[in-house]
Amino acid sequence: MSTDTSYLADNWARIRQRVDAACRAAGRDPAEVGILPVSKTFDAEVIRAAVALGLHRFGENRVQEIRDKSPALAGCGIDWVVIGHLQTNKARDVARLASEVQSLDRLELAEALDRRLQHEGRQLDVLIQVKTSPEPSKYGLAPAQLPDFLNQLRSFARLRVRGLMTLAIQSSDPAEVRACFRALRRLREQAVSQGHDLPTLSMGMSGDFALAIAEGASEVRIGTAIFGRRPGAPA
Ligand SMILES: *Cc1c(COP(=O)(O)O)cnc(C)c1O
Repeated sequence: MSTDTSYLADNWARIRQRVDAACRAAGRDPAEVGILPVSKTFDAEVIRAAVALGLHRFGENRVQEIRDKSPALAGCGIDWVVIGHLQTNKARDVARLASEVQSLDRLELAEALDRRLQHEGRQLDVLIQVKTSPEPSKYGLAPAQLPDFLNQLRSFARLRVRGLMTLAIQSSDPAEVRACFRALRRLREQAVSQGHDLPTLSMGMSGDFALAIAEGASEVRIGTAIFGRRPGAPA
C-alpha cells in the first residue's frame, strides 16, 4: 500500500507563497528567507515524495529518527538537519549522518561533536540554540553566555558556526512571541559587531513564521504546513 502524497506539492507551493507574502509585508526580499522542511514523525516514503518536489534538506528533532529513515533514503542526496535537543552520547551518529545541527547549546556537546567529526574526517555546520523564552521546557544557551560561547567555539576546527536558532514562547499574544525573535536578532547584531560572522537566523515555525520574518529570520522551520498534522499534535 502506498500513501497518497499528492497534497505535498500543494502544501509546498502554498507555504512558499505565504512566506513570500510575509517577506513583502516586512519589506524584505523573499530570496533572503529559506524554508527548512521539518519531516519529524513522517516516514521515508513521504520524504521521498518531498525529494521528488526538489527538497533535499530535512529537519528532524531526534537523531534516532534520522538513523531509522536514512538507509531507505540513501542515494536521495538528503542533508539531515538536527533541530532538537541533542544528548552528548548521540555525537557519533550526528557526526556520521547529519550535515547540520541547529541545537548546539553547550560546550560539552561542541567538544563531543568536534572529536567525533575528526574521527569521521567531516565538518558540520552548526547554529547555536539560544533560549529566548522563559518557559522551562525550552532548551538553549542563556543569552548572556553567547559572547563567551562564540569565542570558545573558535577552537573547534570541525564546527562551522553559521548563526543562531531559537524557539519562541508558545503564546497567543503575538507581542510575546515577537519579543523572542527580536531578542535573537539583537544577539546576532551584537555578535556581528564583535567580529563574528553569523549569516543564519533560524526562527519561526508553521504558526509564527510571519513574526519571525518581520524580525529578520533567514530561515523558517516548517513542519505542519508542509507535511500535515503530526500524530498526537494538538489540533
Ligand atoms: C517540530 C519543529 C518545528 C516545526 O514545527 P511546525 O509547527 O510543525 O511547523 C520547528 N522547529 C523545531 C525545533 C521543531 O521541533
